[in-house]
This record gives sequence, structure tokens and C-alpha cells, in this order.
Amino acid sequence: MPPPVLIVGQGIAGSALGWACEQAGIDFEIADAGHGPAASRVGAGILNPVTGRRLAPTWGFDAWIGQSVALYRAMEAAVGRPLIRPMRIYRRFRDAAERAALSARWGPGEVAPAHVGPRDADGFWIEDVWQVDTAAVLAELRARWLRSGRLRIGAASVAAEAARRDVIILCGGAEVADAFDFVPWERAAGEILSGMTTGLDPGVILHRGHWVLPLGADRARVGATYEVSAGEARPTPAGRAELAQTARELLAPDGFTVTGHEAGVRLGTKDRRPCIGRHPTTPRLGLLGGLGSKGALWAPALARQWVNHLTEAVRFDREVDVGRFFRPCCADEAR
Ligand SMILES: Cc1cc2nc3c(=O)[nH]c(=O)nc-3n(C[C@H](O)[C@H](O)[C@H](O)COP(=O)(O)OP(=O)(O)OC[C@H]3O[C@@H](n4cnc5c(N)ncnc54)[C@H](O)[C@@H]3O)c2cc1C
Repeated sequence: MPPPVLIVGQGIAGSALGWACEQAGIDFEIADAGHGPAASRVGAGILNPVTGRRLAPTWGFDAWIGQSVALYRAMEAAVGRPLIRPMRIYRRFRDAAERAALSARWGPGEVAPAHVGPRDADGFWIEDVWQVDTAAVLAELRARWLRSGRLRIGAASVAAEAARRDVIILCGGAEVADAFDFVPWERAAGEILSGMTTGLDPGVILHRGHWVLPLGADRARVGATYEVSAGEARPTPAGRAELAQTARELLAPDGFTVTGHEAGVRLGTKDRRPCIGRHPTTPRLGLLGGLGSKGALWAPALARQWVNHLTEAVRFDREVDVGRFFRPCCADEAR
């Protein structure tokens, strides 16, 4: 008999879930069609506690950052290669209006938002940031599970597998949308440039609208664009120009030489929360997806919830359970 649990997809969601299953002694198999289109290969893996112009707290950060760091640290120990590192973000004010608005929040009697550090005339610091090398996580676990015979390369068909498994958990990134079509999915394409530069502090991400992420050995990435779109993601001339402009602003005018340009799709939901759980009408079908722009942060804690569910029948948190979107007699209205 094949293993009772089949994980479909080995992006960061399937990797975190497979890892958590392995640690818990759950017998599983994982199938992956190839990392070419995986958002996890393209994404930057930044775990940022505050985002946006209003410095809103990142949903799930304070509750889950400990689990995320612990999981990536445990993987590091097992594979013998760095996978996660602590960082700081220096966020430059975009313009005078942003400087005035944000400076007011540090005024007399005001407390800076949590995780926000000192400011100066040009910008301010965001602390407690991490960066996960998601491409390395994928590559290392792929090699590990190929060696152990757990990973099968190729597309899995849910219809063909359903009769042979207790549960099939979809971790297929943007590909999961059709199987859970009652969820109000939102797709956002994103582009990133890779290139060469000099003089960056390896522990500091520069940010002004977009970010510059130092990778060491004079390599860096600049990203990411965000374009709500139903179509596939492709590198575009407009995306390249937008990111090259950021590189000119944050580095010297000709301080960044482009060596690569990639695009991926983030599959998120209208309520900006991830989705896990069983399909309401086909409970043998499970999901860990809808990770939007936060896959590297959210995947470890969601994987832990799946393991607790499989081993002790623990219910999923209501705020992330995919069932929150399901309306039995009028599924269309949930959209
Ligand atoms: C430009 C960009 C920048 C980003 N930056 C960040 C960031 O800084 N921090 C952060 O946390 N997140 C970031 N993200 C988001 C992050 O990349 C995603 O949340 C995350 O990668 C989603 O992971 P996933 O495992 O769900 O899907 P994916 O990474 O897309 O992986 C899905 C995998 O499933 C496989 N698959 C699909 N269908 C099947 C099937 N039927 N059979 C077998 N295999 C299948 C695919 O081949 C693929 O390998 C970024 C995304 C983009 C596009």
C-alpha cells in the first residue's frame, strides 16, 4: 500500500508540511511537478513584522515567528547548510508626506509600533526581521526526499490517487485554486531582479517602496512588484524598469548590474489569511495554501496545525480554516 498521506507540491508549503510529518513520524509521500513555476523559488523569503505605508503589524508574525525560526533552524541542522538569517530593514521615507505622517507617530506621548526601531532624517529601522533562503530549502529537501524515496517527480492527479490514500493535501501554490473554488482567491503577480552590486551591509535590507536584499559575494536581489492579475506571471519590461528605478534610488545610479529577472504568482485570499483544512464536501482532500506574500512566515505554523490534526484530530484554527468561506447551498455567494 502507498503511504496514507499524499502531499501534492513541494514549494515552501509542501516542504514545511513534509518536514513536520517526517519529524512527527507520519508516513507520507510527496509529489512535485518541478520547481520551475514555484513562487517559493522566485520569492525572497523575507519575514517582515510590519508592512505597508501605515506600518501595520503583519498578521501572524508575533504568534508564529518562533515556530518559523525553530523549523528552519532544525532543517539547517539536518542539512548542514544555512537556511535562515536575522536581518534589519532600513526603510527610507518615500517622500515628505510619509516622513511627516510617520514622524508624528513617534511624537510626544506616542509609542512607535512594535518592531520599529530608531529613526533619523531619512528613514527608520525595522527590527526582528528574518530572511529564509527558500530556494535552498526546496533544493535540500528535494535531495533528501529523493534519497529516502519519499518524493516522486511529476504531476499528481487527485482523481487517480483518491482511492489509495486517507488524505491528499494540496500544496500546489497557485494550482490549488480550482479544487477549492468556493474560496475568494486573489492572484498577484510579482517580479524580482537579481544582480551585482558592492558595498552593501550583509545584514541590512534597504527599503523604499521596493527593497534591496543583499545575498553576499556582491550579489543582491531587488523586488518585488505587486500586480493583481488573473493571468500567468512573466518578467515584463515595465517590471524591470520599475525595479531598476528602485535600485538607482537606493544604490548608486549605476550601482546595480542586472543578471536575472524572474516572475511568480502569489495566491492569496480576499481576507489576507492563509487557508488550511479539509474540503467541506470531500474531506479526503486537504489544503495548505493561499499563502499570498507570507509563505515563508506562515507555512511552518500551518504545517504544525496539519500534524496536530492528523495525529490527534485537533481542529484547525477558525481564522485559517478554509471552511470559513464555504456556504453549503450558495457557494457562489461566498466569492
Ligand atoms: C516576486 C515574489 C516575491 C515574494 N517574496 C516573498 C517574501 O519576501 N517573503 C515571503 O514569505 N513570501 C514571499 N513571496 C510569496 C511566497 O513565495 C509564496 O507565499 C510561497 O512561495 C507559496 O508557496 P507554495 O508552496 O504554496 O507554492 P509554490 O511555491 O508555488 O509551490 C507549488 C509547487 O507545487 C507543484 N505542483 C502544483 N501542482 C502540482 C501537481 N498537480 N502535482 C505535483 N506538483 C504540483 C509546483 O510544481 C510547485 O513546485 C513572494 C512571491 C513572489 C511571486
